[in-house]
Amino acid sequence: MTGVPPGKTEMGRIDLHTHSTASDGTDAPGAIVEKAAALGLLAVSVTDHDTVSGVEEAMTAGRRLGIEVVPGIEVSSDYRDNNIHILGYFIDVRAPALRPVLDWVKTEREERNKKITAMFVADGFDMPLEELKREYPASVLGRPHMAEYLMRKGYTNSVKEGFDKYLGEGKPYYLPKRRISIARAVEVILAAGGVPVLAHPLQYRYPRNEVVEMIEYTMGLGIRALECYYSEHTPEEQEWLLSQAERYGLGVSGGSDYHGTRKTHISLGTGMGGMAVPYSVLENLKARRG
Ligand code: AMP
Ligand code: FE
Ligand code: FE
Ligand code: ZN
Repeated sequence: MTGVPPGKTEMGRIDLHTHSTASDGTDAPGAIVEKAAALGLLAVSVTDHDTVSGVEEAMTAGRRLGIEVVPGIEVSSDYRDNNIHILGYFIDVRAPALRPVLDWVKTEREERNKKITAMFVADGFDMPLEELKREYPASVLGRPHMAEYLMRKGYTNSVKEGFDKYLGEGKPYYLPKRRISIARAVEVILAAGGVPVLAHPLQYRYPRNEVVEMIEYTMGLGIRALECYYSEHTPEEQEWLLSQAERYGLGVSGGSDYHGTRKTHISLGTGMGGMAVPYSVLENLKARRG
């Protein structure tokens, strides 16, 4: 058992899905932990897209503030030509198994950023890659930053317009990004000592029977839990996922997918207002380590 005081398991709240400036969030990792502590959350995980570069700062802030910080990551992977996210908890961020994969993803992204900005520059937009890097020195640059930059330069009126007109899938400045397979994503998280979790299983717009297929397939790969609590889940969706987890003997996870001001409708800890992830979720995940 953990050293959790009585009552904490039932009453305490946690948030195991957040993004910092290390990927596409707007709060520094330490700031997320500070906000979580101020909200009275018992635990928080910073789960940046394809990077663990914010984890150490988050852990240090956690020790200083006396709030539990779970090392995490959210890996983008390919399943049936869709971008499926695998969360990894309790990973050893220094594990040698992580490096080649994260380095490959980083290189892929850098190549794509180079190509996309070159396309804009060729068409007369003032958006050189160097300028973007200067604007977002600590971030893993991607389309959200480009959309924001286009707005700040007056080319668009909103981030959404940047995606709708230029950067979204099928738009003139969209380029696909190669992804690792879902099998590799799970394998790498396991190799780094982590617990792999299927992120927001209902956000991929599959009909329920195909969600079940995905659950069964990823279970075969070694997934250990489903993200049942999530900002955008309806109560019915949450119940359905909890029942699937139980049916398959899988663990449960949950978090808001907080991105700071880049997703203004999502609040840390409570999502769109109604999300409440009990501390017992984390205890159960811990029991599924190793
Ligand atoms: P990237 O990894 O560079 O392809 O960017 C992906 C991110 O862009 C996602 O995590 C979303 O947060 C964001 N994004 C994708 N499509 C849209 C859209 N239509 N409107 C706003 N944000 C989007
Ligand atoms: Fe994101
Ligand atoms: Fe995700
Ligand atoms: Zn996320």
